[in-house]
Amino acid sequence: GAGPKVLEFEKTFAEFAGAKHAIAVNTGTAALHAAVMAVGAKRDDEVIVPSFTFVATAESVALAGANPVCADIDPETYTLSPTAVEKLITKKTKAIMPVDLYGFSADMKPLREIADKHGLALISDDAQAHGATYEGKPAGSFSDVACWSLYASKNMMTGEGGVITSNSDQLEEKLRMIRCHGE
Ligand SMILES: *Cc1c(COP(=O)(O)O)cnc(C)c1O
Repeated sequence: GAGPKVLEFEKTFAEFAGAKHAIAVNTGTAALHAAVMAVGAKRDDEVIVPSFTFVATAESVALAGANPVCADIDPETYTLSPTAVEKLITKKTKAIMPVDLYGFSADMKPLREIADKHGLALISDDAQAHGATYEGKPAGSFSDVACWSLYASKNMMTGEGGVITSNSDQLEEKLRMIRCHGE
């Protein structure tokens, strides 16, 4: 469980990210790993990630036992190409994981539409996107789960740390359980 300082931090971060819930974890990688587990991606499932990102994006999918599938990026924005994503969707696809790289948001609206059309979860890797916006809303607002890092090299940092934000009560409950080994 969390002590009063962590609970206060979670409340403040949720406000900052414009999200209903924030769950603090130890790293951005742990945030992504928990998010992949929470949306139910497991062995043999596929999660579409961008071909250009920090390795932890794909690593978190493998940690959960699922397969990362790399989609091309848009050469203008360097973020996940919605057109490339749609071509890679199979029966095994469980989630799409765009990365808001270098403080610049991926093209979330078409990605949200593709996810909804195919019944997929949208997990954003916001490890580098504190303070970034998309259509006037904080990064992560268009995703089911957003994952943040607080590692020393990031836009906002505590030395080491991570946060998960979500507007879903159901995902929040799952994420809090995953954080505490199922308790
Ligand atoms: C830093 C980073 C991570 C991992 O965060 P850690 O807190 O170092 O585990 C994941 N994705 C991206 C895009 C990152 O830049």
